[in-house]
Amino acid sequence: MSELAPAATPETPVESALPEGWELIVGLEVHVELDTATKLFCGCVNRFGVDPNTNVCPTCLGLPGSLPVMNERAVEMAMILGRALGCQVNRSVMARKNYFYPDMPKDFQTTQYDQPTNSEGELKLADGFVVRIERAHIEEDTGKSVHVGGGGRINEAVYSLVDYNRAGVPLIEIVSKPDIRTIEHARNYVEELRAIVVATGVSDARMEEGSIRVDANVSVRRFGSSELRTRCEIKNINSLRSLGRAIEHEALRQIDLWTTGSGPQQQTRHWDEDAGRTTPGRSKEDVEDYRYFQEPDLVPLDPTSATIAAIDAAMPPLPSARRSALRAATGAGIDAARLLVERGQDGLAMAAVAAGADGAKTVTRLVNDLAVNDWSKVEAESFAALVRMESNGELSASQAKQVLGDLVERGGDPAAHADVRGFEAMDTTELESLLDQLIGENPEEWSRYCGGDEGDRKKMQGFFTGQIMKATRGQADGKVVAQLLAKRSSS
Ligand code: ZN
Ligand code: MN
Repeated sequence: MSELAPAATPETPVESALPEGWELIVGLEVHVELDTATKLFCGCVNRFGVDPNTNVCPTCLGLPGSLPVMNERAVEMAMILGRALGCQVNRSVMARKNYFYPDMPKDFQTTQYDQPTNSEGELKLADGFVVRIERAHIEEDTGKSVHVGGGGRINEAVYSLVDYNRAGVPLIEIVSKPDIRTIEHARNYVEELRAIVVATGVSDARMEEGSIRVDANVSVRRFGSSELRTRCEIKNINSLRSLGRAIEHEALRQIDLWTTGSGPQQQTRHWDEDAGRTTPGRSKEDVEDYRYFQEPDLVPLDPTSATIAAIDAAMPPLPSARRSALRAATGAGIDAARLLVERGQDGLAMAAVAAGADGAKTVTRLVNDLAVNDWSKVEAESFAALVRMESNGELSASQAKQVLGDLVERGGDPAAHADVRGFEAMDTTELESLLDQLIGENPEEWSRYCGGDEGDRKKMQGFFTGQIMKATRGQADGKVVAQLLAKRSSS
């Protein structure tokens, strides 16, 4: 990341959390754990959450004489993700990155250095902002240290334990250029990357289980300049909330140091979620400290153009294309489209609309009432039928919601579920006469509805709707009642 980052233009979003005249520069390094059956260089099972040190062998423990064997599926997944990010796929070589850490039994990490598998891509955020990708390389994960006592912090711990189950798990590290200028975009970038990772099936992308971990390179500069000042790297951020807070805190810390002195030191820092601040780690090593050299036990990876063409041909629709298609078909807004694609419910929505369901109602039902983990029993046909019943007034909104609950639990025909629940279509004439009766019984409320101010009207609408719901045992559609009230008062 040695080249200059483009200077701000009037179109560049300005981060409001920073003091006037300062600009935020963020580049992200995201580690994604690949969802392979086995580890990167051995046959050990790649699984989260099992007893410590049960998925280990001589290779991933770095015992003398053991040799790595490259996991073909991991390489394939790396190329799939690379192509999804618009990268070029290169001839690549594995390298040793040498450093000592107890959770890394070989004393080096097998990774890629100057010849990464993927380079020169880009990630387009949901709002159209483009972040360039420098590289997306293959490497192995380290084990995990557990510091016991002292609040889990290494300095104050009484002792530490190491679990090597994670050692050798395949990772892709995606390195962005320092193109991000706002906290919002930093979050959007991780969200979008996560969506792509899920859509391509290369990872389960569970941030809370550490399947995605983010390092943020943060620096600041005077607005309008194109220099890159000293940056600090904040390590292992594992939630979107922490990402935003950590960047903001770090940027303010640096601005303070530039304003009162000669600026920050290049450094690795850690985010302390409880204290709400970053704390210093090691002074940032330069690249030469790692004494990179080519891994002698593994051959270079050199995919043929036919292999890459096959990956392109098999690429599933990516989130941005799926959002566009969903929005065109249903009229969904940006946020709703993002949510439904993330949940994988866009196919259901499109099928429902294709089967004649109203687009807006389809989106509303899905966004509000299908936020469940397992909706596999909901078939497109029956979902479409449900939305049609709601649109026709055969079911009120609250009834439709209950029937959708039945579909989630048992699947089947929405009309049958409505029958079982005793939901009958309330026709409008029935409602109208009921409303006439209520108006006759409550003349004062009615005149407040007709002649009152906005607040009165709202309150009285609530009153009449409530009365009607009571009389119909909740079977009336609140929206229809509101329409009838408005019609009556203006005639
Ligand atoms: Zn192993
Ligand atoms: Mn890495």
